[in-house]
Amino acid sequence: MKVIRADVYGFCFGVEKAIDMAFDEIYTNTSNGPIYALGQLIHNPQVIEKLENAGVQIISSLDKITSGTVIIRSHGVGKETYDIATNQSLKIIDTTCPFVKRIQKIASQYVAKGYQIVIVGNPSHPEVVGINGWCNNKAIVINDEKDLINMHKADKVCVVAQTTIEAIKFDSICKVINACSNEVKIFHTICNATANRQKAAKNLAKNVEAIIVIGGYNSSNTSKLVGICKEIRPKTTYHIETVKDVNVLEMIKYETVGVTAGASTPSQTIEAVICKLNNL
Ligand code: SF4
Repeated sequence: MKVIRADVYGFCFGVEKAIDMAFDEIYTNTSNGPIYALGQLIHNPQVIEKLENAGVQIISSLDKITSGTVIIRSHGVGKETYDIATNQSLKIIDTTCPFVKRIQKIASQYVAKGYQIVIVGNPSHPEVVGINGWCNNKAIVINDEKDLINMHKADKVCVVAQTTIEAIKFDSICKVINACSNEVKIFHTICNATANRQKAAKNLAKNVEAIIVIGGYNSSNTSKLVGICKEIRPKTTYHIETVKDVNVLEMIKYETVGVTAGASTPSQTIEAVICKLNNL
């Protein structure tokens, strides 16, 4: 069997940085105080388990936290969360991805200049909630062209994108906003990491008999990769979380097997799967 890797797969720069910073803190924190992560740092149950085993407690709000260290994940949070953490004298380990930080900065600068901020993205995604937190929670969030109905006419509009939305969707929404506002500033803040992984998965699926997509069953970027591969290989796309899920009896049927992984899948997990396939 020939095992072929996608051209791009696995951890993106932002997630890798977040995990490195979290483990650095765990190994170097000498305060003996508790270490919290505000929300799941990464959508991968094995990594979360590792963090929890190392003593990190996952929390959903800072309400009852009075001491210790709080890790802010790569999706980022609103300004209010930093204020609460500072007021409660918590040590902050900020792993917000620099690409997301840039959006927060743009949003906050343009709010100060009197612009109505429009975020093109999913309103319930933590990244979007966090960006809105830099707009006094007054941004208009557009997930779909039909949401444009909620858009009131504003003189000055500043449009930003959630990092993981599709460029086509962003461009067509911007076109409509452009037509109905007097002054529009558009910031193309989409991150290429997701798009590059999707493109590479699609190319690979075309050139193999079967494709394995590795990543958390709760990871939305992994599920998107699975969907893309299934469009090309509806019956021979396999979504697995770890090496334990490799179906040996199925795999030995194929001469070429492709391997890709979501942006939140650690390299050890990917290498373990590839090693098992190579041994078949
Ligand atoms: S997908 Fe892009 S924006 Fe999101 S964490 Fe990764 S590098 Fe950062």
